[in-house]
Amino acid sequence: MGSKSMEIKSEDIFIKTTGETDVIDITSKVKRFVVESGISNGIAVLFVPGSTAALTTIEFESGAVNDLKRAIEGMAPRDIYYEHNERWGDGNGYAHVRAAILGPSLHIPLTDGKLTLGTWQQIVLLDFDNQPRQRQVIIQLMGE
Ligand code: ZN
Repeated sequence: MGSKSMEIKSEDIFIKTTGETDVIDITSKVKRFVVESGISNGIAVLFVPGSTAALTTIEFESGAVNDLKRAIEGMAPRDIYYEHNERWGDGNGYAHVRAAILGPSLHIPLTDGKLTLGTWQQIVLLDFDNQPRQRQVIIQLMGE
């Protein structure tokens, strides 16, 4: 202890999505970068640039994923009035609201070279836009 110094390592990963509340498990990609980085203790910060996507964690099985999709549809339904659609005309007002509520980032402690995720807790990217997209997720690891 104490012989290593603080490091910051970053990687961008790129993921093709279908939009319309596409939920994609990115856990293995994040874990791979953690292993490659050699950083053992610190924090992983993940961020998705863009105002119609979000990051969260869930047990990634189809039941829980479908339950989440239904909850999101109830929270910000596709077919209600959105002022954004009048202003901008791109028809994705629901996508902006969903992304804002879920949030664009996660931070996960790193301990002994591992993400401190629960056994049934996966990292997911959610794309709410009304068209397929190529998404960038920035992973930044800080620690020693
Ligand atoms: Zn928009």
